Amino acid sequence: MKPVITRFAPSPTGTLHIGGLRTALFNYVYSKQNNGKFLIRIEDTDRERSTKEFEKNILDNLSSIGLAPDEDPINQSERNEIYVKAAEKIIESGKAYWCDCSPEDLELMRKEQTEAGKKPMYDGRSRNLGLPKTDKTVLRLATPESGEIVVKDLIRGEIKFNNNELDDLILLRSDGTPTYHLCNVVDDFEQKITTVIRGEDHISNTPRQIHIQNALDYPELEYAHLPLVLGTDKKRLSKRNAATSLEEYREKGYLDSAIINALARLGWSQGNNEVFYLTDLIKEFNIKDVQKAGAIFDISKLDWLNSQHLANLTLNQFKKNLEPFLNKINIDMESHSNVDSLIEAMRTSSDTLSGIAQSLIPYYQDINEYDEKAIDKFISDKNLLMQLRDLIDGINDWNLDSIESSLTNFQAENKLSTPAVNQPIRIALTGSTKSPGLGLTLTFFSKKTVLERMDKLLDKKS
Ligand code: GLU
Repeated sequence: MKPVITRFAPSPTGTLHIGGLRTALFNYVYSKQNNGKFLIRIEDTDRERSTKEFEKNILDNLSSIGLAPDEDPINQSERNEIYVKAAEKIIESGKAYWCDCSPEDLELMRKEQTEAGKKPMYDGRSRNLGLPKTDKTVLRLATPESGEIVVKDLIRGEIKFNNNELDDLILLRSDGTPTYHLCNVVDDFEQKITTVIRGEDHISNTPRQIHIQNALDYPELEYAHLPLVLGTDKKRLSKRNAATSLEEYREKGYLDSAIINALARLGWSQGNNEVFYLTDLIKEFNIKDVQKAGAIFDISKLDWLNSQHLANLTLNQFKKNLEPFLNKINIDMESHSNVDSLIEAMRTSSDTLSGIAQSLIPYYQDINEYDEKAIDKFISDKNLLMQLRDLIDGINDWNLDSIESSLTNFQAENKLSTPAVNQPIRIALTGSTKSPGLGLTLTFFSKKTVLERMDKLLDKKS
């Protein structure tokens, strides 16, 4: 059996986005589970929209998320000669011809076809004219006029296209430059690709590309067209309905492994097993089980997966991942005297690392903002807040046991509910009603700081 070689062929006209990353992931996984190779080809023939910055962004992001290619990427912009040679081979075989139709001719042709209720397409009028090459002629493929092309798709089964619905596509423009389809086909052959895994939006290109392969006597390829990635509004995922670039998700504090997990779920599932890693995917993934219907990218699913992946980290791994998010908001994680217990207690405070870093702010810095609604709800009685301040002031051994027993006794003596006692203190300490168990929360501050924060809230109330 031939080794499986897949490729990801991005056009560097933007940063790496979620849909592209899912395509790269499935290509990577399919090659690895077949002991094959995963290659990258930069389709940068559109000189105006392609940039080196976008190319770098795509390649760096792929490598850093664990989808590095097995060979150096190739750039189509550097391979013109190869495509022109291939075009010459097609000319020699008699399967291509020069066409001198002007844009105006083509426009008129389309207009007449549309008016006659026909599908507008090039009608092959130059096909048998034997025109010579000039600086005004394009090279067109002589597509078979009858019969059909069958695309054998690993996900969708056989997809049939009638040849008479495919027009004679352009291989070389009048300036001699090759078109997208020609480059794509030639490179798949040159890179010895066996399997093309790409988005469903390319399905209509496939029969055209197969005709070019046939004209060049290239071997057949295996295809898999992946379902489109949709937003929760069921429209194609775009900046309108979600963040689309990988970087944005990383910056928000999603772990790479959770992003990979969420992307794999875009079109593929493994029974009830929701949480898995790239290595599991390589073992378990079956391309034939990929769904045909559009796959919805739901941020709440990513949130949940991220919380699961965060929970699976050891404390040290967790701290390492969290540190840059704290640094970004000028917090030196290790400056806290009880850092390990603090981080352990706070690691489930949000689904994302940036959210967790935010909830850690009160443990490192003074607070200036309070949840006003919480104040209205829990601190209507300033006297109680003063009593609680005195209670804290009276705790001599500043440790979990004695703090907790003082709080419990106070609560029992005054016949108060737990929130009535705990929430005012929490608000004073963190500005909000959210924190780990109150006794534990208090141990993350010195008694002095607790008193200062309670005084600050008392001042605010007066
Ligand atoms: N360059 C194409 C794109 O970015 C991919 C073509 C292919 O995978 O064959 O959509």
